[in-house]
Amino acid sequence: MNLQKYNGDISKIDFLDLMMLDISGNIHHVSIPKGYISKKIFNEGIGFDASNFGFAHVNKSDMVAIPDMDTAFLEIKDEFNILHVLCNVEDPFTGNIFEQYPRNIVKLTQKYLKDNNIADDAKMLVELEMYVFDNVEYSTSEDHSYYSLESEEGLGDNYNLSPRMGLKKGYHGLYPKEKYFSFRNNVVSTLEKANIPVKYHHHEVGLAQLEIELNFMSLLKVADNVSLAKWIIKNIANEMGLYVTFMPKPMYKMPGNGMHVHQFLEKNGESIFTGDALHGLSETALYYTCGLLDHSLTGSLLAFTNPSTNSFRRLVPGYEAPISATFAKGSRSAAIRIPGYLKGKDIRIEYRTGDATANIYYMASAMVLAGVDGINKKESPVDKGYHSAEEKSDMIFPLNLEKVLEGLEKDKEYLLKVFPEGLIKDWIKLKKEEAAYVYNAPTPQEFELYF
Ligand code: GLU
Ligand code: MG
Ligand code: MG
Repeated sequence: MNLQKYNGDISKIDFLDLMMLDISGNIHHVSIPKGYISKKIFNEGIGFDASNFGFAHVNKSDMVAIPDMDTAFLEIKDEFNILHVLCNVEDPFTGNIFEQYPRNIVKLTQKYLKDNNIADDAKMLVELEMYVFDNVEYSTSEDHSYYSLESEEGLGDNYNLSPRMGLKKGYHGLYPKEKYFSFRNNVVSTLEKANIPVKYHHHEVGLAQLEIELNFMSLLKVADNVSLAKWIIKNIANEMGLYVTFMPKPMYKMPGNGMHVHQFLEKNGESIFTGDALHGLSETALYYTCGLLDHSLTGSLLAFTNPSTNSFRRLVPGYEAPISATFAKGSRSAAIRIPGYLKGKDIRIEYRTGDATANIYYMASAMVLAGVDGINKKESPVDKGYHSAEEKSDMIFPLNLEKVLEGLEKDKEYLLKVFPEGLIKDWIKLKKEEAAYVYNAPTPQEFELYF
């Protein structure tokens, strides 16, 4: 994928590619040829049909996409110069911003922080974990035992002489044993050309599981860049004959893919999360932590951070994925970790529960609102028993999609400061449909057991 920074010279553009987000956070697009690119489109936008975007509309799906030129970047594809740009969306009937639109929710969250003098912004660093599939590492039909339970003991009859890495021994593995160094280098240099800053990349624990960590950004940039990064990664994989998935648990008994989010609130250019209350955190950071854990425990926050049936195949004991309301320094089984290697002004919290089936715009906003609710309540996560390595039964999260949706129905007050009630309704409806589809359909495992 040949991406370049955009220098503002519109005369060189062959296609203006307007990108819009649906309720799940997926990007859709419409491309405008050179001859139709006009000032009017930049100012007033262009109409499109949002009927498959997942938002419930009363008899109307016509929307207007208005490009946000702050997000523009260039792609050279075939012989064409394509200018990609993320859009804001307006409702043409009222002329107002479409209030449920993912970018709008993030902007309202930022405004809420400022208007209430809580912080100037929230800064987040997102870790993207993914599995790569190619035809060498995984042959899906004949070599079925390869990633089943038995294969941990040996490779069975399908012994293959090519060099292999242990199924769960990939962490920070080095090439040539790991095969995706070039892929990650290619991805990271391409992301940087699209103005997406990257902290580092490495091989993860699972065989052919990779991680790319973006750097800290302000809230809207985080959400835009996570969405674009996932798309760019899939494109580069496609060009290299690979498949990439961010799904939380693509393979049984293998480590899952998390989407950990490091975060802090910022005021006057400084973090308000550092201090001397505990582990180098301020009182404010502890209250925020308490808010995140309180609303995770009701299920409500998980309905936005872990919003798929597959999310709960990852949140099971025995992996580095949390299942309970705990926070600790250094611990990888805690829902909130204070990274052990940080000092002074760099100290922040890492929320480890979420995964990439989230709509990052809603997830980022919901985390901030849960944290702010904690700040308003001023409760100590230590007094509440969250500061513990051991999981007490009353601290275990609700661990399936239906339960967390029930939690959201009951515990949504803190979200309504920003989320329109209609969005929460649409979200619950969509997610209940997904849950019914997955749980009511017979599975290959049922055929194996009961056919
Ligand atoms: N893959 C783990 C998860 O599912 C996380 C591993 C790590 O700590 O980076 O969250
Ligand atoms: Mg990781
Ligand atoms: Mg992490």
